[in-house]
Amino acid sequence: MRVTAMSMFVDLVFFGIPGIATGGLAYRKNRSALAWGTLGFLSLGMALIVLAFMPFRCERCSNPLSNKQRREKTCPACEELDQEVYAFIDPIPDYIPESTRKLA
Ligand SMILES: [Zn+2]
Repeated sequence: MRVTAMSMFVDLVFFGIPGIATGGLAYRKNRSALAWGTLGFLSLGMALIVLAFMPFRCERCSNPLSNKQRREKTCPACEELDQEVYAFIDPIPDYIPESTRKLA
């Protein structure tokens, strides 16, 4: 096949754009942009449709999130982890310098 400006344009539209779009969406969903971008490139954008139906993942722990959890920025797995961490931290410090400062 002859490489012309037209064939390059067609390649860009049918391979490049789906590849970039799929990679970009994968990045937003906290999934591998390179892997999904390659799939989007090879599958003529079919991977983009598959990816559109896949859940977002938590930025911190990669746990899959429902749309509601993503909007409210809550992750059940992270919350559980935070509770374990907070159990070791005293929530009310008994000495706060600002509150005891005398007025000059
Ligand atoms: Zn999480």
